[in-house]
Amino acid sequence: MNVVVCVKQIPDPAAPGELDPNTNNLRRDGKLIMDDSDSYGVEMGLQLAESAGGGEVTLVSMAPNNETSGLRTALAMGAAKATLISDDALSGSDALSTAKVLAAAIKRSQPDLIIAATESSDGYTGTTPVQVAELLNLPAVTFAKKITVEGSSIKVERQTEAGYDEVTCPLPALVTVTAGVVEPRYPNFKGIMAAKSKPVDDLKVSDLGLTAEEVGSTGARQVVFEVVAAEARQAGEKIVDEGEAHKEVVSFLEKLKLI
Ligand SMILES: Cc1cc2nc3c(=O)[nH]c(=O)nc-3n(C[C@H](O)[C@H](O)[C@H](O)COP(=O)(O)OP(=O)(O)OC[C@H]3O[C@@H](n4cnc5c(N)ncnc54)[C@H](O)[C@@H]3O)c2cc1C
Repeated sequence: MNVVVCVKQIPDPAAPGELDPNTNNLRRDGKLIMDDSDSYGVEMGLQLAESAGGGEVTLVSMAPNNETSGLRTALAMGAAKATLISDDALSGSDALSTAKVLAAAIKRSQPDLIIAATESSDGYTGTTPVQVAELLNLPAVTFAKKITVEGSSIKVERQTEAGYDEVTCPLPALVTVTAGVVEPRYPNFKGIMAAKSKPVDDLKVSDLGLTAEEVGSTGARQVVFEVVAAEARQAGEKIVDEGEAHKEVVSFLEKLKLI
């Protein structure tokens, strides 16, 4: 089973993020790492290829400055190879432009299954994977918490508020996975060393049959008008127990209709 996993490389969330004052886009000119959300997709892809007894995991990433640090982490986990699309023409790309680029790159490897995270953890829209599926004319199953391959189809347990739906879908297909779906393995020393020599196919927009006008700031339909800080959380109400605190707790929970 050949699986393509989309890996977004993002600025380290531990470092303070910086916005470009002209475009309100996140600055991505420093070192990038694999988005933690995508480590679940990589692990899921590896497990599915392993249990199918053959096939491999190929990574696809669109990122600036020929950045491969995040891809090397996923290669060290066990993915076989990667495709990186990095091109100055992609600067200012919105989610749809990103989907066009990823879809064109994925099409080259004709995988049985495409895995992406439900949403990234930097400037997320949560829309890219389903746009990729639409552009490739493939079915998309979102919010997967479990994927089982059954011959030429997959059975997906799809997370809902109340529990999960069981969805069956023919392959090839695209599935988005939720965080925590599997326990991502830590790359071991052997994996880290092997990752250094695994192939990373470096592509430009023109290699994908796309024009610079279709992507980047020229092709973008989304504009970030404003970015505002999230409202600070209010301090909770403190109840000092003088023998009657339980009553106040019960009445508080009743007000919220929790009991
Ligand atoms: C108006 C606008 C301008 C932007 N300008 C720039 C820019 O100048 N430079 C820049 O680098 N980025 C830019 N971006 C962000 C970039 O285009 C994002 O990759 C894209 O918007 C999708 O990110 P998302 O977080 O919305 O994806 P989501 O839909 O939240 O991502 C879900 C999943 O899709 C997959 N995925 C998403 N993006 C990628 C990717 N790039 N590679 C591989 N897999 C991916 C991953 O599995 C990810 O977890 C811009 C975005 C917007 C909206």
